[in-house]
Amino acid sequence: MSQHRNQIGFPQIGKPAKDILDAMDAARVGDWDWFSLKNLTASYYGGSDVAEVAKDAFVKHIGDNVVHQTGLHPSVRKYETEVIEMVKELFHAPENAAATITTGGSESIILALKTARDRARELKGIAEPNIIVPQSAYAVFNKLSHFLGIEVIQMDKSPDYRADVAGMKAAINKNTIMLVGSCPPFPLGVVDPIEEIAAIAQEHDLWMHVDACIGGFMLPFATDLGYDVPNFDFSVPGVTSMSADFHKYGYSYRGCSILVLRDAELINWQGFEVANWNAGDYYSKNTAGSRNSGPIASAWAVFNYLGREGFLRVTGDVIKGREAFCNGINAIEELEILGTPQGPHFAFKADGLNILAIADGLMDRGWAINIGSKPDAILLMLSCHHHEIADDFLKDLREVVEAVKSGELKAKGEEEVYGIY
Ligand SMILES: *Cc1c(COP(=O)(O)O)cnc(C)c1O
Repeated sequence: MSQHRNQIGFPQIGKPAKDILDAMDAARVGDWDWFSLKNLTASYYGGSDVAEVAKDAFVKHIGDNVVHQTGLHPSVRKYETEVIEMVKELFHAPENAAATITTGGSESIILALKTARDRARELKGIAEPNIIVPQSAYAVFNKLSHFLGIEVIQMDKSPDYRADVAGMKAAINKNTIMLVGSCPPFPLGVVDPIEEIAAIAQEHDLWMHVDACIGGFMLPFATDLGYDVPNFDFSVPGVTSMSADFHKYGYSYRGCSILVLRDAELINWQGFEVANWNAGDYYSKNTAGSRNSGPIASAWAVFNYLGREGFLRVTGDVIKGREAFCNGINAIEELEILGTPQGPHFAFKADGLNILAIADGLMDRGWAINIGSKPDAILLMLSCHHHEIADDFLKDLREVVEAVKSGELKAKGEEEVYGIY
């Protein structure tokens, strides 16, 4: 019978909670601990104390709905308001900037796209809009533009492993509404030349979105620590909006990001209103409806727990790890770090050796890594504790490279597809 496909039907009678929790423990036997030291993919660990504070804050609000912040949960409104002010300061946003807390980078980005689209339609009469994005822009720009009926003009190369600024400029046409730069982009780890892209945007009266989903809560502290980070925020004239994820290097639990708009007036094109609905007037600036208050509570708690001092320490530790990894990798003759990474992650390629075989060798030794392409590369994303295992990783890497060189180790021939594991 069709309802018994796979022998899983809707449970007829309930089971004791303990049995269920035991079954979950059994189901998770093959899972990684997200904070595992050998996990060099996106995991965003800020230390066990930070994770604990974030969890306690999350759990406190686990039953609260952000949508009810004006009525039932004014505490949530306080968190949002305060976090927005903190982020505006961090990003050198003008007094008149406006911001929206969202469920993640994807929501922040779709709101930026929608706002830019509706504004360009109203003020410039652009009915068939396009945006111009670097080759390395996060794949959600393509996905979300598809949802919104926006064409994406994507560059096909990344000179110096950064955005192809000249190509972007040449691609502008009468229907272009937005230019995008990332700091840093996920596949490369090198901050795009935001100042140059923003200058072009200004010259052509275009919206410039900076995708700081990864670097938003790390690069400001890297700058303060004296590292060389190109300007990427509202201190750059021409930057119209920024997206940044608390659930990455802001160390909140997942489901929390922010979209900041340079000018509060822009929010007119972001919100959506349904007047005279059965349940009254409906207005929302988000795509999400009901959502848990836990994520924003955890973001607020972590900002207050770490403060600038704590973020400087944690960021310094991430960079210490990145430098140890990168120096060790560059010391291996066949390997090369792509460009000069400024954030928490970086990619490296292999000269004359199959990088996928090297990746297989590392995975066989229990390292979780990402694979990049154009060029084929291994992508590592670090958190503050990874400097502790730099030596172990590099030892394994040297041995794996030797095994690939001697022909002892060959690629299994399967590339990983981001998002499908
Ligand atoms: C993570 C990420 C996003 C958006 O991601 P969500 O998974 O929706 O939070 C956007 N841009 C970059 C560069 C990212 O790394």
